[in-house]
Amino acid sequence: MQFIDLAAQYQHLKTRIDNRIQEVLDHGQYIMGPEVQELESQLADYVGVKHAITCANGTDALTLSLMVLDVKEGDAVFCPTFTFFATAETIAYEGATPVFVDSNPDTFNICPIDLEKRIQAVIAQGKLTPKAIIAVDLFGLPADYPALEALAKKYDLKLIEDAAQGFGGEISGQRAGSFGDIATTSFFPAKPLGCYGDGGAIFTNNDEYADLIRSYRVHGKGKDKYDNVRIGMNSRLDTIQAAILLEKLAEFPIELKSRNEAALRYHQQLADKFKVPSVPPGYVSSWAQYTLQSEQRDAAMQQYKSQGIPTVIYYGTCMHEQTAFAHLNYQVGDFPIAEKLARSVFSLPMHGYL
Ligand SMILES: *Cc1c(COP(=O)(O)O)cnc(C)c1O
Repeated sequence: MQFIDLAAQYQHLKTRIDNRIQEVLDHGQYIMGPEVQELESQLADYVGVKHAITCANGTDALTLSLMVLDVKEGDAVFCPTFTFFATAETIAYEGATPVFVDSNPDTFNICPIDLEKRIQAVIAQGKLTPKAIIAVDLFGLPADYPALEALAKKYDLKLIEDAAQGFGGEISGQRAGSFGDIATTSFFPAKPLGCYGDGGAIFTNNDEYADLIRSYRVHGKGKDKYDNVRIGMNSRLDTIQAAILLEKLAEFPIELKSRNEAALRYHQQLADKFKVPSVPPGYVSSWAQYTLQSEQRDAAMQQYKSQGIPTVIYYGTCMHEQTAFAHLNYQVGDFPIAEKLARSVFSLPMHGYL
């Protein structure tokens, strides 16, 4: 049994994907070919935003967002400590200081109550300028955007949605990728919507941000690519990856339904044995992961393994426990809920062909 069965998905979509790749080989526009534009327009429609701008990967999507918001040295950017490293990494990469926040034990997402405490602490200390929040749609469930948007407004902070795992999720019919000032996603093969290499996208309703992102992703271009008006980067999505994503996006609603059916079956069979993930009323998860909590994690994982069922720990190390952030001087016990999650979570196989 596969943890994420990309081979089963490919067998199902093989003719369509092969034909799409062949079309790119025939027209030969490997960089910024017509499939890139077609995909961007379909992504914007699906998410329900004005602009979808593709880029090289989900990490660059976050970096480009922070560049657009002018996040720099001396700024504090708040993010969950229980997340994938890239969320916090990009903050530090831009020279700013990541300020970590504890999680909600039921949804795994950033806790708005702890967030407000951490914002107030940074203000009271007076050393850093509170600038932005990066919320993560962890394991596919959108973060608590109604509460986060209120806090962003109250403290005049920008809000970024890291929807690398959240693409396909919803709150009251509003799709992941449409929350906050800017949202990002990743098309890494194992994400809910993945390509066959690296890929990413940025979503926004703000025209000015969209223009800046389109410039930053191609060497800070102005009128054309040999007119460079700012320092940017090279972060484009390959045309072949866009072609693959067009076929995968067409199938995505069916796969999303199947993932949700699988999650329901897990819930029905496992709720009396483990703490199962909870989805608040009005929320839809894309189930990037189906994550259980157990005090006897090792034994549970071992038992699944003996039955041929792979399990994986996402994530066993919080950001404040990472060597790369040791200089921030966080202590064990600073984030009791996230630390407990890191010691008790494990994920079961999840994909649209389970
Ligand atoms: C995967 C992931 C990223 C980074 O995406 P890449 O495409 O691998 O660069 C960022 N944030 C989260 C939460 C992720 O899961």
